[in-house]
This record gives sequence, C-alpha cells and structure tokens, in this order.
Amino acid sequence: MSVLCEICDLSVTYFGDVDVKVIEGLNMTIEEGEILGLAGESGCGKSTLAMALTRLLENGEISGGRILFQGQDLVRASEEELRKIRWSRISLVTQSAMSSLNPVLTIGEQIVDAIQAHTNTKTREAWKRAEELLSIVEVDPGRVHSFPHELSGGMRQRVMIAMALALQPDLIVMDEPTTALDVVVQKQVIRKIKELQAKFGFSVLFITHDMSLLLSIADRIAIMYAGRLVEIGTCQEIRTAPRHPYTRGLLNSFPSVFERRELTGIGGSPPSMLAPPNGCRFHERCTLVTERCRTEVPRVTNLSATHAAHCHLLEEGVTSG
Ligand code: SF4
Repeated sequence: MSVLCEICDLSVTYFGDVDVKVIEGLNMTIEEGEILGLAGESGCGKSTLAMALTRLLENGEISGGRILFQGQDLVRASEEELRKIRWSRISLVTQSAMSSLNPVLTIGEQIVDAIQAHTNTKTREAWKRAEELLSIVEVDPGRVHSFPHELSGGMRQRVMIAMALALQPDLIVMDEPTTALDVVVQKQVIRKIKELQAKFGFSVLFITHDMSLLLSIADRIAIMYAGRLVEIGTCQEIRTAPRHPYTRGLLNSFPSVFERRELTGIGGSPPSMLAPPNGCRFHERCTLVTERCRTEVPRVTNLSATHAAHCHLLEEGVTSG
C-alpha cells in the first residue's frame, strides 16, 4: 500500500474568549485503499480532525503542521483549490444526514447538484448517475424524487454515502456515520460501506467512539486522547496486543464479539481542553502513572512496522500489561 494522505505534526485551535488547542502534534497516515478507524471519547478531537481534513473548520483553524494529500498540502491550499478537492477527491459523511441534506430539495436534485457543481455532466446524464448511485447503496432508484423526510434514517444515511461516492473520491471521511441508526440498520450500512470500499478501492477514515464497531470494519485503528494520538496499529494489533493503557481501557469498555471478558471501563473523565494536564494527558486516569508521566510528554515508541504508541512505560521497555 502507498500513502494517500500524510498528516504531519498537525495542530488545530478553536478561538473564543480563551483559545483552545483541540489537536496537538498529530502524526498519522491514511494509506491507499484502507479503512483507517479513529476512536476516542467525545471531545478528543476526532471530529475536529474530520473537519480539518476537509478544511471545513468553524471558529477554528489549523495552527500548525501539514496535511499532504496526494502530495498537495491542504493546509496551504487556496479556497478555489479546496473547492475542487472537496467531493471529487475527498468527501465527507457526517452523523446526521437530516441536517446535511437540504429538506426542500429531492434527493435526486441534491445528487445532481453535487455532480454538476464539479463536472460538466449534462442534466439527463446526471439524473441517470443519481439513480445508479442510489441502486449502488441499495436504495430504490424510484426514490430519486423523494424528499429527505420521506426516507427512513437508514435510507438517508445511504443517500449521504451515495452523494459522497458521486464523484469517485479517493478518500471518504465518515464521522460517526451510523451512530444515529438502530443496531440492525447500522450493521447493514457498515456491510454496505465495506462492500463499496472493496469494490471501488477508495480509502475511508472512519471515525467513531464505538471500538467494537471499528474492530469489525477497520484495517488499521488509531486512538486519540485529549487531542493527541496515543496508539495506532493494525486491527489485529490493537485487538490482541494493545499497548497503551488508554487503548486497553477503551477495549475493556465494550463487549467483544471475539471473546468473553469483564467490562471494566476507565475511571474518571477526559480532561478539559481549556487546561489539559501536563505530561501525558492520560495521567490523571492511568493506574500505571509514574512521576515522569505528570511532567513529560511521552514520545512515540515503534512496536512493529505498523504499530506505535505513546507511553513512558514503553519507552522504558516496561511492558504495560
Ligand atoms: Fe499511563 Fe504514564 Fe503511560 Fe501516560 S505515559 S499512559 S500516565 S503510564
């Protein structure tokens, strides 16, 4: 696999009465044709990363670093360049299809608008393509003239996926795309995403707080805590050999389809990003904390060619298990 997108030392700051750095020094790659899962608790910066990648941040800006997408630095791209990239090379599917879709336009009109905003496709062809896209995501093409409120939640989310696919992007960022759906519909949508990704070969950054969901869909998994990356590895490495205490805690917070285990959760709650703790940001909740953890930011420890984590115990060669 080769790298599609390289995120280098990325920081994002929201501006208000007090400026808040919600992502700090993030390094990560998204490979061609992979599903990279991104997990962490609410407020850890994962949705901010989705907005930073599509350069759709509101009230905030990228305050440092680079996002090299197919070699082009999106941080330095002009609005005009970004307009060309959005939808056609990177598209975004968010949690709420209802708020992303325009309630006064039919879903067909919205797909056609998206196609024609970026290509010279004639209207008749664009409508044909809209119907094709609906059948690709298993929505009856006859629903092309339906308004969003006439569709179920699962169908609306499939329509959002159809729109994201419309221009055959290389990367689809999916931010909690199935959270609002019931479990059965969620499983169907996940199956569809996996099937489409295998068929068309695009990359997906799949963001969710649900580790068990990620374990069923992702090729690799990245874990964020309080604005920083704490661990990244293949799905297998994260599932069977998690090395960061936070990743272990997250895994123990969810029932697993792979094994029976006691759910223990993680004590305490994530820190306020207005005044994040010094040193390792997880130290206030970590049962393995040492003095060093309170003052020194852990560096990355490479555990394999694909597995890395940020924890002092690993730097010191102490197994954290
Ligand atoms: Fe825990 Fe220290 Fe490792 Fe942070 S660096 S996860 S506080 S042991």
